Amino acid sequence: MKNEMKLEFLSISENESLARVAVASFISQMNPTMEELTDIKTVVSEAVTNAIIHGYEDKNEEKITLTCKMENEQIEIIIEDKGIGIDNIEVAREPLYTSKPEWERSGMGFTIMENFMDKVDITSKPGEGTMIRMMK
Ligand code: ATP
Ligand code: MG
Repeated sequence: MKNEMKLEFLSISENESLARVAVASFISQMNPTMEELTDIKTVVSEAVTNAIIHGYEDKNEEKITLTCKMENEQIEIIIEDKGIGIDNIEVAREPLYTSKPEWERSGMGFTIMENFMDKVDITSKPGEGTMIRMMK
């Protein structure tokens, strides 16, 4: 089965659950297991949260896009923001690295995405934004 969807929403935390539910509903067409569904919802949450709190530094009126594609049992999820971008992607990927320790972040978002998905690509440019592409 081949399918694709795109969703654009504002950078408010209420939209984390919107993104999670939209992706879950989209991939339910592939008859995923409960575990697969939970993993996908978790990684979508992590990436959308990052876009809101890091990319847009909690500014509420910026746009996040979520694209989902499925083909031959493969799922691809892309989350994009036009926020501050990431200076050093290698460092950002490291477990326990966070640029916001004062906000009680634990620096585990990317590690969770990498553990739950088969592939996680990060494309980012300071001042231009960040694109996270995850495959499973
Ligand atoms: P946690 O996810 O455990 O709450 P965290 O968000 O700091 O903590 P990660 O999700 O692993 O940890 O992200 C690591 C770091 O990468 C962040 O602290 C931030 O500096 C940077 N980062 C991640 N996503 C973005 C983004 N969309 N825009 C800008 N910087 C980002
Ligand atoms: Mg995070």
